[in-house]
Amino acid sequence: MLKGKNAIVTGSTSGIGLAIAHSLAAEGCNILLNGFADKAAIDALVKELQQTYSVQVDYSPADMSKAKDIADMVGMCDRVFGSADILVNNAGIQFTAPVEQFPDDKWDAIIAINLSAAFHAIKAALPGMQKRNYGRIVNIASVHGLVASVNKAAYVAAKHGLVGLTKVVAIENGEHDITCNAICPGWVHTPLVQKQIDDNAKAQGISPEDATRKMLEKQAMKRFNKPEQIGGLVVFLCSDTAATMTGTPVIIDGGWTAE
Ligand code: NAD
Repeated sequence: MLKGKNAIVTGSTSGIGLAIAHSLAAEGCNILLNGFADKAAIDALVKELQQTYSVQVDYSPADMSKAKDIADMVGMCDRVFGSADILVNNAGIQFTAPVEQFPDDKWDAIIAINLSAAFHAIKAALPGMQKRNYGRIVNIASVHGLVASVNKAAYVAAKHGLVGLTKVVAIENGEHDITCNAICPGWVHTPLVQKQIDDNAKAQGISPEDATRKMLEKQAMKRFNKPEQIGGLVVFLCSDTAATMTGTPVIIDGGWTAE
């Protein structure tokens, strides 16, 4: 369905981003991977995607906390594949603490990687998309782009900001056939969430299984969303069916925000 399109997926060496890369590649999309991992793991990942889906795959080492790296990543996609048609802003980090104890450097890092990186990537990708009158931008926000949880000031602020940025980009670019949407997942079992499970278990003196059960109380369905479901939603947002969906936060949260 997306044969010949070229996509950048930030933070695609792990978790949700990796699943998104698989889902887009399965539709024939060439993929520019990004994120941290050792060289052997990255080489293996590039090869796996190339061989499994017969698409072009490359890797950008851009650090999403650095504006220049981000512009270079978009430039690399143009240079290597010819254009950046799809941009998925997925890279993200988490840190939890009450506001009055929240370390300044953690606040700055979360705002930089979870919010400003998307701004810099969109800014760099838009001129090419506008020239070609085509673009699909998907920002991986969170239920925390819509509601709050305690101890997540920076994350909640960044994700609410990302939903706002999504809407502005959408209304500024509608006439160029460029859509910009946000996906708002509830819990997805990835390394980022495993760390929270382990931290909660330790802090509360309970088993990881009990910590998991307590976390899932937020979701009526009491089970995790799967990374490949987020990948499927990204494909949907890039499909013709979603061609006039723009500026929308798409929720996939097992009922978390329905309550
Ligand atoms: P993860 O930790 O498994 O993956 C994060 C990815 O981002 C990795 O590839 C990592 O290398 C990359 N990354 C981190 N810092 C980076 C930087 N400075 N530069 C470049 N890459 C960097 O996490 P995940 O759970 O897959 O999260 C992916 C996105 O989904 C995040 O934006 C997260 O906020 C969002 N999200 C996750 C959940 C969840 O429950 N897991 C729920 C809602 C939203």
